Amino acid sequence: MTASSSEFELIARHFTRPAANAVLGVGDDCALVDVSNGMDLAVSTDTMVSGTHFFPDVDPESLGHKALAVNLSDMAAMGAMPYWAMLALTVPSVDDAWLAAFAKGFFDLAEQFNVSLIGGDTTRGPLTLTVTIMGEVPAGAALRRSGAKAGNDIWVSGEIGDAALAVAHRRGRLELSPADYQEAVMRLYEPTPRVPLGQALRGLATSAIDISDGLLADLGHICRLSGLGATVDFAAIPVSAIGAKHLASDAGRSAVAAGGDDYELCFTAHPNSRDSIRELTDVLGVALTRIGQVKRGKGVSLLGADGKPVKIDGRGFDHFSGP
Ligand code: ADP
Ligand code: MG
Repeated sequence: MTASSSEFELIARHFTRPAANAVLGVGDDCALVDVSNGMDLAVSTDTMVSGTHFFPDVDPESLGHKALAVNLSDMAAMGAMPYWAMLALTVPSVDDAWLAAFAKGFFDLAEQFNVSLIGGDTTRGPLTLTVTIMGEVPAGAALRRSGAKAGNDIWVSGEIGDAALAVAHRRGRLELSPADYQEAVMRLYEPTPRVPLGQALRGLATSAIDISDGLLADLGHICRLSGLGATVDFAAIPVSAIGAKHLASDAGRSAVAAGGDDYELCFTAHPNSRDSIRELTDVLGVALTRIGQVKRGKGVSLLGADGKPVKIDGRGFDHFSGP
């Protein structure tokens, strides 16, 4: 937006809050932060474009939550502690009610994780949100995608598939009951980033990723970067009561194994760590389920109860692969 009083008013009204964790927050040419000794600075950016990453009719409060949640999820996947966020906001017009609801969703989640919004940019154009998140992780201790070893267990947190089931319902690929849709769509719009889990996995997990593009695609990134392959036992993938009703259909199985937007963590660990990982379930109140093994070779094989490959349509969301 060209510098106008309405731009400054907009920032002042909706996006200026005390930045408890920063040396200097919103208002100057740069924000200032103080990074602790012995810590690496972890930085990540995610952009969400209307019509591509969210339905244009999404509730703005949910969108504010999600724009930050997907970035917090990247912090979780590295085992980092999030502190600071930047928000680049492109909006078609200044709609105060919309902005207030968006800011509420954003700041409610930010407060929950003690994250300060320390700056950003505001422009006019097609609705697009870019959040940059910064945090700290003890030097050398970040959970990378490249650390998996042959023989490691593969684990996932929570339940997989509800977000993609809601999308499949919206696109007419399968039908959820009205009550199931209401529940599943909340997993799509208001995912819970697994930040405490990511930090608890430092020193336990050998690699980690958050499930944004789909379990098979994201586990595929771990395999590729670790130079290994994996087998996943389809029946072991944890699904909700909603997901369980749709495993008989191609669209349902595809949502679970290849659908995205769950923002659960997928990680690998040595089998000796099984008891320690199970203990985390009680401490953190997050289900952790072993779904397969890292193997020598390449690619991810999804296996049925009979040991034969399970066929899945679509292997995760990829903007540039076409429909
Ligand atoms: P500049 O002209 O230096 O780019 P801006 O006018 O874009 O500065 O922004 C003024 C201040 O407001 C800066 O500190 C910037 O980080 C902050 N800011 C702008 N837009 C947002 C936003 N959407 N959320 C949070 N802070 C913002
Ligand atoms: Mg600017």
